Amino acid sequence: MTFDPLLNSGYPHPRRGFLKVAAALAATLPSRISVRSPTPPAPTPPLPQPPRVDGQRLNAILGVFRQFGGTDDGGTTRLAYSAVDIAGRRYAAEAMEQSGLEVSTDLAANLIGRRPGTDPEALPVIIGSHMDTVPGGGSYDGQVGVASALEIALTLHHHRVELRHPLEIVIFQNEEGGKTGSRALVGRVEPHELDIVTASGLTIRDGIARLGGDPARLDEARRDPGSMAGFLELHIEQGAVLAAAGIQIGVVEGIVGIRRWNVTVRGAQNHAGTTPMNQRRDALVAAADFIRAVNDVATNTEGRQVATVGRIEAVPGAPNVVPGEVRATLEIRDLEMEKIGRVFDEVESRARQVGEDHEVTIELDRFYESLAAPTEPRFRDIIEASAEALGYTHVRMPSGAGHDAQSMAELGPVGMIFVSSRDGISHSPQEYTAPEDIARGADVLLGAVLALDGVG
Ligand SMILES: [Zn+2]
Repeated sequence: MTFDPLLNSGYPHPRRGFLKVAAALAATLPSRISVRSPTPPAPTPPLPQPPRVDGQRLNAILGVFRQFGGTDDGGTTRLAYSAVDIAGRRYAAEAMEQSGLEVSTDLAANLIGRRPGTDPEALPVIIGSHMDTVPGGGSYDGQVGVASALEIALTLHHHRVELRHPLEIVIFQNEEGGKTGSRALVGRVEPHELDIVTASGLTIRDGIARLGGDPARLDEARRDPGSMAGFLELHIEQGAVLAAAGIQIGVVEGIVGIRRWNVTVRGAQNHAGTTPMNQRRDALVAAADFIRAVNDVATNTEGRQVATVGRIEAVPGAPNVVPGEVRATLEIRDLEMEKIGRVFDEVESRARQVGEDHEVTIELDRFYESLAAPTEPRFRDIIEASAEALGYTHVRMPSGAGHDAQSMAELGPVGMIFVSSRDGISHSPQEYTAPEDIARGADVLLGAVLALDGVG
């Protein structure tokens, strides 16, 4: 039985436009037989040195993606599990087939294209990213990594490059709704998560089934640690470091860890008219000093840590009452969990001082932790060497946002490549990365894949 999720979806079947797209894509593939001299067949063109993808075709693929959920403002809304998500994945599957990949959907509904290697013992090299977006999202987040992986498969196929390792292209499902696809690969999706209703209106359970996975057998989607040679992800930066410095390639050192605390400041609630200034224990004034201190500590400590007080509430919250209590949050991020700990210790000691100054108590209760995922040092070197060989400028940097590579790090070594985001804007229709930068990122990824394979 063929799975056709669009059949009863009420969504116009994109097959027609889709075939046109597929034909356009095929037409960009140079013919293997020269028309002028039909015999003998033209030799396979050698891979350019240093290896490069077809940047024009890559950006054309990215343009085609916009047919699936692209909006008039230049953005894309392709919610995980929606009809356009399914249509986009179907197009990607078609592109994979054109590259001779064996296409499958795993039990967690990740879309996978596999290219065999020459060494039957070699573990797969995995590349990929996600195609789903947030509501009102951009046309680059995740999609640049997917289009580049598809383009690399086309390039290798066109030049008949044989790799020692199998190459797997993975399009992870529902990254934006909690990295469901990549977390399922490492057995991190809790049963209760299946009931979560996603932005598409479907539960994760129903969404996985709709994409062709099996939510009842999610456990079997899990892969073993050590079962891959490595995972490489190309992604837009989603920040402004590269754009501000005018640098082409970011060599990601890792995905930052995160800790969050609930902050409670307790003072004395009193009448705002009758309580003299020198007799107050104003929790909100103390909180203001605390927020200032958090910013000072994060700014003046050496390193790239960030610390934020993102939410605040005064109790009881009336114009004529001195606030007796303030509830706030504290978040600290860094590539090293130990560094987060040290920054927190400093914040805590400053909080004690603020408490004494204002005769209030400040309580900090940790409620969330996401562990940092450093990239493999060897992969950073490989990516850097690949950028260097191509003459692209590069810099090492952390990723402040989460990515599928974070989950994949539990299976083996991972590497990440960033390309510049205009003005650092992301999760917005304004998100933009220049076509040349996208091609550069894919070139670096291709070079890294070949280096990892021991070919170039
Ligand atoms: Zn992303």
